[in-house]
Amino acid sequence: MSTIVAFADLDDTLFQTLRKLPGADPRTLTPATVNTQGEAHSFCTPTQAELLRLLACGGVTVIPVTGRDLAAMARVTLPFSSWRIVDHGLTLIAPDGAVDAEWAAHVRAHLHDLQDALAAATAHLEAHAARLGCRLTRHHAHQLPFMTVLKHPEAHAGALEELQLRWEGFLVDQNLADLQIIANANNVSVLPRSLGKLEAVQHLRQRQFSDAVLTFGLGDSLSDLAFMSACDFAVTPPRGQLLRAVNAARLPQR
Ligand SMILES: [Mg+2]
Repeated sequence: MSTIVAFADLDDTLFQTLRKLPGADPRTLTPATVNTQGEAHSFCTPTQAELLRLLACGGVTVIPVTGRDLAAMARVTLPFSSWRIVDHGLTLIAPDGAVDAEWAAHVRAHLHDLQDALAAATAHLEAHAARLGCRLTRHHAHQLPFMTVLKHPEAHAGALEELQLRWEGFLVDQNLADLQIIANANNVSVLPRSLGKLEAVQHLRQRQFSDAVLTFGLGDSLSDLAFMSACDFAVTPPRGQLLRAVNAARLPQR
């Protein structure tokens, strides 16, 4: 049978928390993740569940491509049985659950060169984040920091926007072109520019799915755009950040 692969972002693409589903009838929802207490936390809508069923019926291999870390990926209860891309692309998990050591070594070498820049970008924001009541968290992959995430406890849009602009300005001023800022809902993150979901998808396609006759990229966010663009078709939900941005751009119809 021909190999068909769907590379799929998870949160807000295949499922979301109840906060994003106002008015939904809980009886129609399919549990998709649990929280750290083991309680259902994110859910598939009927259409998301139908999409997953369609892919399964078509023999499509679905590969999660997520910013979740290993622990958060383990709290996803949907049955993914092939490779999984976690940590924004910095960690590949084989079907048997083992972390791909070759990719880990590649990532560590890349991250090693970025440590000073990541530390400087994080330090630059610390005082401003504290002043605006925001929290900065450093995330690690393969024992090295790779991302700093900024959050506000009440998702204060003004505070997050001010800090995002400060961070972007700092990267430009300091010529830290190897880093990028991504923003979505209640978080703003600084992470590597040229090592992420796209590179992980490309690597996996070359190494494991070179025989694929058709690939789909599923995602909701601007940060998914690069890997979705590397697939044959892209699928995105209508109320996601990606389509909202495209709709707001009012592109000339040429
Ligand atoms: Mg998403």
